[in-house]
Amino acid sequence: MRINPACAQDTPELRHFVGGKPVPGTSGRFADVYDPSSGTVAARVPLASAAEVAAAVDDAARAQREWAAWNPQRRARVLMRFADLVRAEEDELARLLSSEHGKTIADARGDIQRGLEVVEFAIGIPHLLKGEYSDSAGTGIDVYSMRQPLGVVAGITPFNFPAMIPLWKAAPAIACGNAFVLKPSERDPSAPLRLAELFAEAGLPPGVFTVVNGDKEAVDALLDDPRVEAVGFVGSSDIAEYVYATAAARGKRAQCFGGAKNHMIVMPDADLDQAVDALVGAGYGSAGQRCMAISVAVPVGEATADALVAKLAERVRELKVGASHDETADFGPLVTADAVRRVRDYVGIGVAEGAELVVDGRDITVPGYENGFFVGGCLFDRVGTDMRIYREEIFGPVLLVARAADYTEALRLPSEHEYGNGVAIFTRDGDTARDFTARVNTGMVGVNVPIPVPIAYHTFGGWKRSGFGDLNQHGPDSIRFYTKTKTVTSRWPSGAKEGASFVIPTMS
Ligand code: NAD
Repeated sequence: MRINPACAQDTPELRHFVGGKPVPGTSGRFADVYDPSSGTVAARVPLASAAEVAAAVDDAARAQREWAAWNPQRRARVLMRFADLVRAEEDELARLLSSEHGKTIADARGDIQRGLEVVEFAIGIPHLLKGEYSDSAGTGIDVYSMRQPLGVVAGITPFNFPAMIPLWKAAPAIACGNAFVLKPSERDPSAPLRLAELFAEAGLPPGVFTVVNGDKEAVDALLDDPRVEAVGFVGSSDIAEYVYATAAARGKRAQCFGGAKNHMIVMPDADLDQAVDALVGAGYGSAGQRCMAISVAVPVGEATADALVAKLAERVRELKVGASHDETADFGPLVTADAVRRVRDYVGIGVAEGAELVVDGRDITVPGYENGFFVGGCLFDRVGTDMRIYREEIFGPVLLVARAADYTEALRLPSEHEYGNGVAIFTRDGDTARDFTARVNTGMVGVNVPIPVPIAYHTFGGWKRSGFGDLNQHGPDSIRFYTKTKTVTSRWPSGAKEGASFVIPTMS
């Protein structure tokens, strides 16, 4: 199903979603949206001008004032209805998402489900917004705090989780009483557009959830607009840093999450078959296009490394790559032809740098989908820390093995890497696991769990160049991010007259 086609002939033209309804783009600029399995253009998405963004923010600002006056329980009820509608349409939505992203339909369901879990968290907003209260902080004085919405907030999201990441941001933002303007990835905008329609169907007032499609021009317009109080970004690190710096310079709150190079340590005492299963799933699922994908395996000791690489090579050769709707495929195509070029180039760079290419998936073809954006699983052994393939994010189905002589070296590798999103350790030794989780310099850690994406009521965020800003996504941090705290110190007259005081009040 194609969302909001403006006309039936030729390539369907997508819309923005402003004021509670789809609206056509007026800038005259468009980007192609592909079906990556066939390599054909499936739709054209309008790229908003600064004027179109300003009009959308106008509308959001108007809607926000009324929305903030709804009591939190009423706001939560809209989210409840929304969650029900998304669940009822999950299959169709997963197909739509997968047809533009390229991930398998089963994986697209996970994308939606992990987003819904944050909606479920945000349904607890009446409880989450309760402030603090100190009775009789001084004689006859009570102190309390309340959390108030910021106003209009924006989310700029990447292609790789077109449902989950918009929902991670929008659900807490809206629940707190803000209006949310989403600028989704221009590569797979149809799932976010459908979510906007479902929000409207759930009873969300027009203007509280807005979608403006676009590229850098739209992002810059959001950053320039003084009415946008906060910006949440997820994408590559250089752009995350740019958005963070620009937003901060303009006095906005910002939380900006970037790229990753997630390591998985395999200790000699680990269950090797379990570790191999974990590496294959976390390294190649979604064609490696997950910010929490494992891209570096770090076996400790030569014996562990030899055994691990032998088992991995066998499994990687057997991986089934297919069209996104092929239910037997382990993973589908990459998102664009550019992504295919980038991944193939990196594999060539790794070979030139002297890493050992154990499995080469660069030149696979999928019968019936000869023009699709496919790259098969690739596996490198003996990767050095000075190599570009180790230092840079590849974001494709390429797993590196960087051998460590001992635990100390294994701990050092992820700790010293410039990215610090996720990391995992596989071991049967509680002592080692405890030491590792305490000392590793990374935001999210898995112990015998390869993709430690925290559940909705904890928070998600990487360190170093994987995260700019000080509050994480979802969980309690998201409520802090999307509200400002007001603290009230109150005294009701008791009849006693103390006269003016020229000394700072203390609660003695
Ligand atoms: P991207 O940086 O290309 O795009 C992200 C968003 O920024 C999109 O909405 C895009 O339109 C916009 N954008 C692109 N160029 C811009 C520019 N010059 N100025 C302003 N805005 C711009 O990222 P992507 O390719 O869509 O997503 C993949 C990246 O996202 C990977 O690096 C991945 O690791 C990262 N990612 C990180 C997390 C995390 O939580 N840390 C989660 C998912 C993805």
